[in-house]
Amino acid sequence: MSDRLVIVLLGKQGAGKGTQADVLSQHYGIPHVSTGEILRAAIKAGTELGLRVKGVLDAGELVSDELVNDLVRDRFTHADAASGVLLDGYPRTVGQADALAEMLLPDTVTACINLDVETELVTERLAMRRVCKACSAIYRSIDPSGVSGVCERCGGEVVQRGDDTPDAIRQRLSVYERDTAPLLDYYAERDLLITINGDDTVDAVSAAITAAVDEAR
Ligand code: AMP
Repeated sequence: MSDRLVIVLLGKQGAGKGTQADVLSQHYGIPHVSTGEILRAAIKAGTELGLRVKGVLDAGELVSDELVNDLVRDRFTHADAASGVLLDGYPRTVGQADALAEMLLPDTVTACINLDVETELVTERLAMRRVCKACSAIYRSIDPSGVSGVCERCGGEVVQRGDDTPDAIRQRLSVYERDTAPLLDYYAERDLLITINGDDTVDAVSAAITAAVDEAR
């Protein structure tokens, strides 16, 4: 057993990875690292990286393995990542999973959680999803906060993500099947895959994940 806790959250867009990542990173005291968030922050800040990737995100395509691998490698050098990380949206291809394995040597990923939700349900969830522009809080349904457009957590503006449009949703789900679903076999072959039913309440899903991770450690 290694002391460093490295949890990979896998699952279709809309399966609840972001929501669970927030809960789990608090529970285990490790940072929530979302490559999608890092890229969106770069776009919002108008950095060179942001300008480079904006079109790719809008189209629902994947940015290059090299680019995200560098982002994650850099993120691992931050002090708060010493005790572990919760990876949300990374790795997304077999090439990225190989790069991650190399970054972690001599350790390995502690567990890969596959949040399993039917495509029909995630499509519905994505169309209804709203996020806070300021703090990235996720609203799962068109609830009062989503409608009023004000974040309950920080008072920021609650909006629909640019890539949660019907076309981009379809595109991202097909990219998931093509590039990311093979990671289920990848981690199963390494005895690291834990599949959790994601079609339940947030609390029930996080309880199932923590029980499985605690057993795997
Ligand atoms: P997410 O917030 O995880 O749904 O990511 C939003 C978008 O960021 C994706 O549709 C991709 O365009 C890009 N992205 C995020 N993570 C990765 C990754 N690991 N590899 C390639 N592209 C990524």
